[in-house]
Parts: sequence; C-alpha cells; structure tokens
Amino acid sequence: MTKKQFKAESKRLLEMMINSIYTQKEIFIRELISNASDAIDKIYYKALTDENLSFEKENYYIKVSADKDSRVLTISDTGIGMTKDDLETNLGTIAKSGSFAFKNENELKDGHDIIGQFGVGFYSAFMVADVVGVTSKALGSENAYKWESNGTDGYTVIEVEKDAIGTEITLKIKENTEDENFDEYLETHRLKAIIKKYSDFIRYPIKMDVKGQRPKADSENELEEYHEEQTINSMVPIWRKNKNELTTEDYETFYADKHYGFDKPLKHIHLSVDGAVRYNAILYIPEKIPFDFYSKEYEKGLELYSSGVLIMNKCSDLLPDYFSFVKGLVDSEDLSLNISREMLQHDRQLKLIAKNIKNKIKSQLQSLLKDEREKYEEFYKSFGRQLKYGIYSDFGSNKEVLQDLIMFYSSTKKEMVTLEEYVSRMPEEQKFIYYASGESYERIEKLPQIEAVSEKGFEILYFTEDIDEFATKMLMSYKEKEFKSVSSGDLGIESSETEESVSEEQDNKELFDYMKTILSTKVKDVRISKRLKSHPVCLATDGEVTIEMEKILKSMPDNQNVQADKVLEINSNHEVFSTLKVAFATDKEKVSLYTNLLYNQALLIEGLPIQDPVEFTNDMCKIMV
Ligand code: ADP
Ligand code: MG
Repeated sequence: MTKKQFKAESKRLLEMMINSIYTQKEIFIRELISNASDAIDKIYYKALTDENLSFEKENYYIKVSADKDSRVLTISDTGIGMTKDDLETNLGTIAKSGSFAFKNENELKDGHDIIGQFGVGFYSAFMVADVVGVTSKALGSENAYKWESNGTDGYTVIEVEKDAIGTEITLKIKENTEDENFDEYLETHRLKAIIKKYSDFIRYPIKMDVKGQRPKADSENELEEYHEEQTINSMVPIWRKNKNELTTEDYETFYADKHYGFDKPLKHIHLSVDGAVRYNAILYIPEKIPFDFYSKEYEKGLELYSSGVLIMNKCSDLLPDYFSFVKGLVDSEDLSLNISREMLQHDRQLKLIAKNIKNKIKSQLQSLLKDEREKYEEFYKSFGRQLKYGIYSDFGSNKEVLQDLIMFYSSTKKEMVTLEEYVSRMPEEQKFIYYASGESYERIEKLPQIEAVSEKGFEILYFTEDIDEFATKMLMSYKEKEFKSVSSGDLGIESSETEESVSEEQDNKELFDYMKTILSTKVKDVRISKRLKSHPVCLATDGEVTIEMEKILKSMPDNQNVQADKVLEINSNHEVFSTLKVAFATDKEKVSLYTNLLYNQALLIEGLPIQDPVEFTNDMCKIMV
C-alpha cells in the first residue's frame, strides 16, 4: 500500500504536536469532540430541512470509549461523515479554517503557547497517540474508508466496512514515559472530567460506558457491579446559561474553543433578550487585530443559530461594517431554520436583532471608554480606524453612533482625548476645534502652521491617519463647534496684529503680485501670514481641500486630480521678509530666486515632493557663491 505525504505546513504542525512538551495535552479531546459536534451540526441541519431524511433527535450523539488492554481510545459520532476525498483533503492538509495560522518560524518553534490557547484541530491527537485511525462513512455514500497515520511518515486510506453514517476515530495511546503519564487518557474518571471541563456545552449527548460499583438499591450494605451508558455533558450551550453562573474564564475558554481569535477578548457581552424579538447572544470585543482584518479576505459576521441549530457561520447582516471586529453568535427561536441567505437580508426579526446588537455594542464601548479607559485605548489602537471609517462611509449616516467613540492625540494633554473632552474645555474665545495633519506626532509638533494656535494656548488634535480629515469633514462639527485645520485660510483667531498686517499687505502688494506671477500655477495666492511666529514661510490652503487630503486623494487609484488651493504665507516679522523687500527694490532676479526657494522650503516642511530638486539645489548654491 502506498503512503501519501502530508502537505508541508501540516508536516511542521505534526512534528510540533508529536514533540510537544505542552502540559495540557488533554485538549485533544476537546478538539475531537468539537469536530464531531460540527459534523453532527451538518447532518442535523440537513435532516431538519430535508424532508427525505428522517429526523430523530436521539440519533445524534458522540460516544467515547476506552479499552485499557489494547490502549485504544475511540471517539465516534453520528455526524455527516467523510468521503475518501474528504479524508485526504481534510486530514492530509492543515485545516484551512484559519484556526491555526503561523506568523513566523519562532512561533512555530515555541508552539507551546499556541497549542494552549487556540484550537489546533485534529492533529492534536498526535500529542497522545502513536497511531490515529479515522473510519468514516459519508451521508449519501455506499462505501466507508479508513484513514490511518502515525503522524511522521504520511498516511494511508483503505476501503473498510462500516454500517452507520458517521465517523469513528481511534487513538492508539502512547506508552507512559518517565515524565509523562498517558494512561490517564484511558481512565474513565479522567476522561469524564476532561469532557466536563471542555465540552460540557456541546449540544449533543457525549456518551460513555461507565463501569463501577454502587450500593444495592434494597440493601445499603451490599455493593453491586454496574455497567451503563451515561451522558457526561449537560448540553446547555453557554449562551443559554445564566450570566451569574459564568465566569470571565468561561467566556474566554469559549472564545478560544470557537477559534474567534488568537487573543484574549477585551470584553464580552452576554445578551438574553425577551421582547419584540427573542434571542440570546454572546459577543466579544477582541483585543488585537486579526492578522487579516484590514485585508479583503476578512469576513465580518456572527454565527447564527435557530433554536440551537447552527444555520450560518458568518451572518454579515448582523453587524454594521464599523463594528466588523466583533465576534460571537446569536441564537434566536424566532428565525426559521429554512431561511435562505437572500431571505435573511429582508427578515424583519433579523433586522431587529441587528439593530439591537448595534446599540448594545455601542453602549458597551461607551462604558468601556468611561470606566476602563486603558482598555478602551488598547481597543482603539486596534480598531479606531474602523470607527472613523464608519463615520465617513454611508454619507455620514452613522456619525451620531460613532462620534463619541473616536479619539485623537492632543497637543496639550499629550494623550488621546475624545471630542467631548476637547469641547468641554474650550475657552470661550475659541471658536473652532483645531487640528493639524501630518505623518507622525513628532512631525506635526514641528509644523510652523501650528504656531499661532499653540501660542493662543488652544488645544490641537493631531491627525496622523489618512481617514482622519475625511471623517471630520463628514462630521463637520461636534457640539456645534466646527473643525478647522491649522493650515486653513481663516483661523478665526483674533489677532492684535491684524490691522498691522493688513496695511503691510497693502504696502507690499506689488511684491506679492510679482511673487504670484513667478509661482503662477503653483499657488493661488501669496500673502502675509497670521499664523507664523518664528518660521519664515509656510503653505496654507483656502477652501475645503487641505494639503493632506490632496496627498491622500492623489494616492488613490481613481484620483480625480483634486488640488488644494495652496497659499504661500510669508512671516512679515522675519528677516527674510526684509531681504525680499530690499531685493524687490534693487534686483528683481533675486526676488524670483528667493521666491522659488521659499516655495520649495514650504513644500519640504509639508512633506510634499519638490518638482525639480536639481533646480532647488542649484538655487541654494547661487546664494552661497
Ligand atoms: P477545523 O475543525 O478547524 O476545520 P480540524 O483540524 O479540527 O480543523 O478538522 C479538519 C477538518 O476535518 C474539519 O474541517 C472537517 O471537515 C473534517 N473533520 C474532522 N473531524 C471530523 C468528523 N468527526 N466528522 C466529519 N468531518 C471531520
Ligand atoms: Mg476542529
């Protein structure tokens, strides 16, 4: 019989499993039972929705039995089974489900941690077994097959006899070693305890043959031998349990069991709603960004159950995009089992549930922000961008929901602040919510444009993400205070120098006109700055589009070549300005040289590319020689 080889990653995982020094090897039972339960979910759902299949609840169960003499542990189920092809693809390759995604070789080396925290699936069987056999007969199939492997040198698949549809997994348990006890996985009481610990909520009975002694019914002094089949699990799913009976650890374990994420959830929300629509839900706010979160592959959605039967893995209609990071499940008795994806979208009950859930998530985030600020900031680091994106998208229709959840870095507080906090401490004379955009806090801090606003003592919000300005443009204002870029034409700051600068502007009109012709298409205007204090020059903008926005729009694939109306601002208190004036009176050539230099300097400060760097350096040299 020829042996087939495992796919490369599977092989690495297998090696890790076999050599694992991990102490909680017992989780292999959880994994195998969870697979059995998934398989029963599939056939159970089929039976409920297909008239040609008989439907009898007691036909669906999982059975665990151990034989000490032959050292074989068997876990069988009455699930949907696997065809020959299924056996090869599902067990010959690592599960595609993403339950186990390596990020790098190091993680693989000390896999220790990963095994403990996350589901590792079927291969975990090799932590305790020398040989694993999977005998299966798929629904609708005449033949049964057996897959077998020792984990190291490939696997075989042969045809075998099996009457009932379903799967039977046999594990030849390893011999004890000096420091490891494998016998325990053949002991009934240990197996019972492990099943209770990890798989109590499984909705199908997990049965075991239990042998023992007990007092006789008619005489308390005599013992009798018994041998009976017992159901080990309580079968109450966690979401049907009473919140008060559950610990944070229970929720965390469930999160890991469900493979919702590689992290520990930041917060869980357990809902039992009994109103216009009835449902139970467990929702999680993850702590860390899933590795594929900002990629096209990421699919949002919650698991959807109808009266305890899984009907959809990722129901996207239950979550708005801006809360797409939320994980969890919803179980409702008001939903039909037969409901199709298309019908679901229009289902009134589902819409009600979705709306309800959205509000719950919002209020939970608000209380996290209020009561557990550090945790919220942790969350915001991961998913803040998604919230801001939510404000911007759908023409701002969700801004009410989201505006109190966003935060920005503050120039005065040197930490993240909410809009509410910002507005509440605005001095009376401050009319706007000021912001400055740039690549990083450090760069923004050095922008000449912030000088005037800072000098006033006004707080400035630092925008470092591309979505920031777009989101606030969509918001327009918060509590009737409009947002204003520190580079915008009119800063709305009363300045004692205003009159002075107006006359200065008039006195030097010819100079500015001359500079404007030199820069022709590059800027819309050249004028005296009201915002500069120590720097000689900067760029400002008139109108809606700021320079940051122009940069972002330019980088988009379908850019409309949107341009900011740039204004070159000169600091009239700077020596450079006197030099300009003198040059204008004596040497026009020099004015043109200076103008170009100043313009290019302003571009550099702004982080914009200089059109002709060679010309710029030549100009510098001209001044030096
Ligand atoms: P996951 O459960 O995350 O998909 P596993 O490694 O646990 O990954 O299982 C791999 C695949 O093997 C499953 O997705 C399923 O298709 C199949 N499988 C495993 N156990 C069973 C079973 N008892 N019955 C039917 N299919 C199974
Ligand atoms: Mg699994």
